[in-house]
Amino acid sequence: MEMKTALTIAGSDSSGGAGIQADLKTFSALGVYGMSVITAVTAQNTQGVFGVEELSEKIITGQLDAVFQDIPVDSVKIGMLSNAEIIQIIARKLRVYQPHHVVLDPVMVSKSGYDLLRPEAKAALIEHLLPLATVLTPNLKEASVLVGHPVETLSDMKEAAKALAEKGPQAVLVKGGHLQGEAIDILYDGEKWRTFEGKRIATKNTHGTGCTLSSAIAAFLAKGHSLEEAIQRAKQYIQGAIAHALELGHGAGPTHHFH
Ligand code: PLP
Repeated sequence: MEMKTALTIAGSDSSGGAGIQADLKTFSALGVYGMSVITAVTAQNTQGVFGVEELSEKIITGQLDAVFQDIPVDSVKIGMLSNAEIIQIIARKLRVYQPHHVVLDPVMVSKSGYDLLRPEAKAALIEHLLPLATVLTPNLKEASVLVGHPVETLSDMKEAAKALAEKGPQAVLVKGGHLQGEAIDILYDGEKWRTFEGKRIATKNTHGTGCTLSSAIAAFLAKGHSLEEAIQRAKQYIQGAIAHALELGHGAGPTHHFH
């Protein structure tokens, strides 16, 4: 049976709600064959992140070569990168293997406040990876860090999307999930803006929503949808996954991936 494929390059979340685990669950739920290159392992549950161990250059390079030299990769999602050296390895390999679609989720800090990207690695992310992205998917906090000033309103989001698009990605989706009122996202594709509106769902169980949205976009791109269509469908998917989030653990429970 022929199946489209997607590769996540990201960190492991031991509690299965975010990171690599959320990405693979999303790929499965959306009918895409999922593969993973692990950059770092976190000790984590619904209450927080308690430790991180970054993998070596050798094993990260080994994973990338093993996958790309054997299996066609229809799309790539990039999540937690942890440090500047890892960013450079991945940028180098993406330039060699040139996958069709790269969804870059600039993961920086967990909801519980733990650094998932060393602050000094921000410059490497901008310089080496932004230019390789089909779409960059920052939330308001990540957009603020990347542009260097607060992004708080819809007009800030539009400006930030345009400013970030000028740094090389083909498109930028600034996610307004943390805005007051409706959950509005803004897409800028180098020419025009487009708004995506979503329902706000009242729940504390939102662990892994960012990871899930970006991997759902990657899955729909792998299946051949246009970027706008992929985002629209990914937003529908994440809304369902949040609406059916699980009351697991003692903190922010995970979103639920169902077929
Ligand atoms: N842990 C890992 C490994 C991640 O990649 C991410 C991604 O954003 C998170 C945790 C953060 O999840 P949350 O923002 O839901 O805390």
